[in-house]
Amino acid sequence: MKKLYKGIHKFQGSYFKKEKAFFKRLSKRQAPEVLFITCSDSRIDPNLVTQSKPGELFIVRNIGNIIPPYDAIKDKNSVAAAIEFAVLSLKVKDIIVCGHSNCGAMQAIFKDERELRNMPHLKDWLKLAAPVKDIVLKHYPETSAEIRQRITEEKNVLCQLHNIQTYPFVQEALNEGVLHLHGWYYNIGTGSIYYYNSSEDAFELISEQGMKGDK
Ligand SMILES: [Zn+2]
Repeated sequence: MKKLYKGIHKFQGSYFKKEKAFFKRLSKRQAPEVLFITCSDSRIDPNLVTQSKPGELFIVRNIGNIIPPYDAIKDKNSVAAAIEFAVLSLKVKDIIVCGHSNCGAMQAIFKDERELRNMPHLKDWLKLAAPVKDIVLKHYPETSAEIRQRITEEKNVLCQLHNIQTYPFVQEALNEGVLHLHGWYYNIGTGSIYYYNSSEDAFELISEQGMKGDK
């Protein structure tokens, strides 16, 4: 904890001091244009990897960057609540679902359920990603563990992009052309970020020049 307290002092004495006017403006309202959904993994820092400032990303994090299908959890679905607020109130223009390398959740879905018996909430939560496991076992039965891991992490992003489209208000905004979905994959060891190109059905490296057609 000591390190964190020191960090607070450092933040207040340097960054905040320099950006006082910015934080004053920010204190009045938030108007992020992006809903960023990623894993709780401590190694991911959405603001750092996109070099964005406070106020720019509305962030939802959970184990495995999973989006429960619209009807999967009837009440107390915090992911659904955040998506509702981001799409209907903040009116974000883009939703990014970002998976990552070495994702413990995507390893855990292949484990024997008994290994998670002392973590019943986690076990239940990961059941939401069962379709990902089924797809991988069906279409890639012979791959090595390493390749299977990468495929699972990527397929999970696609599965969650599919799930978010089961939310009627998301579908409506997509149809109106006011909302766009993006699937990303972050490689922790290289710093590379890939985007899902649906016309090629492949994850492609996001280059320095950014994406064609994107501002
Ligand atoms: Zn993860």
